[in-house]
Amino acid sequence: MIDFEYIRATDLASAVGAGAAASTRFVAGGTNLIDLMKLDVERPSHVIDINDLARRDPSLAAISELPDGGIRVGGLARMRDVAWDARVRERYPVVSQSLLLAASGQLRNMATIGGNVLQRTRCPYFRDTAMPCNKREPGSGCSAIHGINRTEAVLGTSERCIATYPGDLAVALVALGATVHVHSPNGQERALPIANLHVVPGAHPEVETVLRPGELITAIDLPALAAARRSLYLKVRDRASYAFALASAAVAVELDGRNIRDARVGLGGIATKPWRSREAERLLVGKQATEQTFRAAADAALAAARPQRDNAFKVTLAKRTLIRALTEVTA
Ligand SMILES: Cc1cc2nc3c(=O)[nH]c(=O)nc-3n(C[C@H](O)[C@H](O)[C@H](O)COP(=O)(O)OP(=O)(O)OC[C@H]3O[C@@H](n4cnc5c(N)ncnc54)[C@H](O)[C@@H]3O)c2cc1C
Repeated sequence: MIDFEYIRATDLASAVGAGAAASTRFVAGGTNLIDLMKLDVERPSHVIDINDLARRDPSLAAISELPDGGIRVGGLARMRDVAWDARVRERYPVVSQSLLLAASGQLRNMATIGGNVLQRTRCPYFRDTAMPCNKREPGSGCSAIHGINRTEAVLGTSERCIATYPGDLAVALVALGATVHVHSPNGQERALPIANLHVVPGAHPEVETVLRPGELITAIDLPALAAARRSLYLKVRDRASYAFALASAAVAVELDGRNIRDARVGLGGIATKPWRSREAERLLVGKQATEQTFRAAADAALAAARPQRDNAFKVTLAKRTLIRALTEVTA
């Protein structure tokens, strides 16, 4: 681990101002950043602790009602608090479930919503500084493409990077169409659909989001959405707990009898970013909720998959995960 300067930010303006400097990182729960610093993967010169910001402005860690019936979750809200919030559990089960199926109780007590959506890949080659990795060291090569790639992505990959986006919550959020609020170093606020927050690797795997240096996630809005009440997160992994997804599905469905009026589909564990499948959604809306419909949607969701040597099983697994999630949520 390298030497770095630790700064405890007391207000938003100074936090984002200091955060705009090169090689600076915010730290919230620290469960991802500190881990990567210990591995020498992250080597910031300055680390800005943003936890005290919520003492000055409690809305940064709050869970509150929006006038249109949605819910706003502060960027510094802990995973635990959001997962167990009664309104989130009732109106957005997929969000609560995605959080409770992630990490462990201790980690959820520490980790924040902003830090969670920005967590970095668990690709073993990214985390091993002895191995080339285009994401860690642009231009050095991708060890995963010719290496052991069982856990890597099958959607959104490029010839430079096949690292899987590991988080669960963001998969639920892209399915719902959540909005991310960001505070910029120039003092301005901006809002963006969470589907636009993460980017696929393309020629620049080192670029993972559209956030500019020093931009801080202040809140995430869960939209008022009828389908969200009938929603579910299904996660398949090597162990029953404390493991990242091999494949996961976040689904939300509004039914009129057995007719599907609205459908949202997010996929995790198989893509380079939290993946929303509009292809699957198109094949669900207006159809009867039957196994045949779900199979067609799952085939469409994975039609663009490009498996590697060791991870072709993920295509089948993801389809089955989606079909089961849709079957359960419409039962
Ligand atoms: C053993 C283990 C198992 C895990 N299993 C799972 C799992 O199954 N599913 C899952 O989804 N996750 C899992 N995780 C990951 C865990 O959920 C994340 O580490 C955690 O959510 C990160 O939140 P944090 O507040 O600790 O982030 P930090 O480590 O503090 O920050 C992470 C990144 O986000 C940036 N950041 C933090 N807050 C903000 C903000 N408000 N605005 C802008 N940038 C910000 C930081 O600069 C840093 O780059 C696991 C982690 C561990 C260690």
